[in-house]
Amino acid sequence: MPSDTEKSLREELVKCMKILHSRGLISGIGGNASARLPREGAILITPSGKFKGDLAPDDICKIDMEGRVLEGYVRPSIESPLHIAIYRSSPHINAVIHSHSPFTTGLALAGKKIEPVNYEAAVIFKEVPILDFRIPGSKELGELVAQNIKNRKAVILQNHGVVAVGATPLEALSIIESLEEVSIMIFVASHFGEVKLIPKDQI
Ligand SMILES: [Zn+2]
Repeated sequence: MPSDTEKSLREELVKCMKILHSRGLISGIGGNASARLPREGAILITPSGKFKGDLAPDDICKIDMEGRVLEGYVRPSIESPLHIAIYRSSPHINAVIHSHSPFTTGLALAGKKIEPVNYEAAVIFKEVPILDFRIPGSKELGELVAQNIKNRKAVILQNHGVVAVGATPLEALSIIESLEEVSIMIFVASHFGEVKLIPKDQI
């Protein structure tokens, strides 16, 4: 029998994927999300290949820290190595979400950095690194992200998307949403003229 914690985390992961899909932050089979089950030393993670806008709690796979499937009738996300690498190197992180946020990824493609256009950008996204491209699903991508996300809330993957972390899946989702909001502001402002930043002495 799954614990109450596991049941509610399965529901929260399903909810996060639905929101990501409805907001255009992932397409049908893109993106993935996970949560750590600290007592069991296991991870709940979204399945590979399934439509992410309409998952059921039972679609979520349970894997161990080696990536072996403990429960689930479909394959776990191909980005499982990335999620595992983050949990292994950062014990304080309990949820990871990977999206394909189009404005954030688009700005990075053009070499534009996140700047302090609002308070979230100035504080939470003070230093969001743009990590060099690595093949999706590879161990190399997992290691690169794990090294760079330790003391941050999010990183941008060049030619790919965003990874955000939090204490809960909803917290990681909020980071992805805020980052995309900031990116849209920068995009709109850049289109019309110079981007006005918060004065340094006010941060
Ligand atoms: Zn991806």
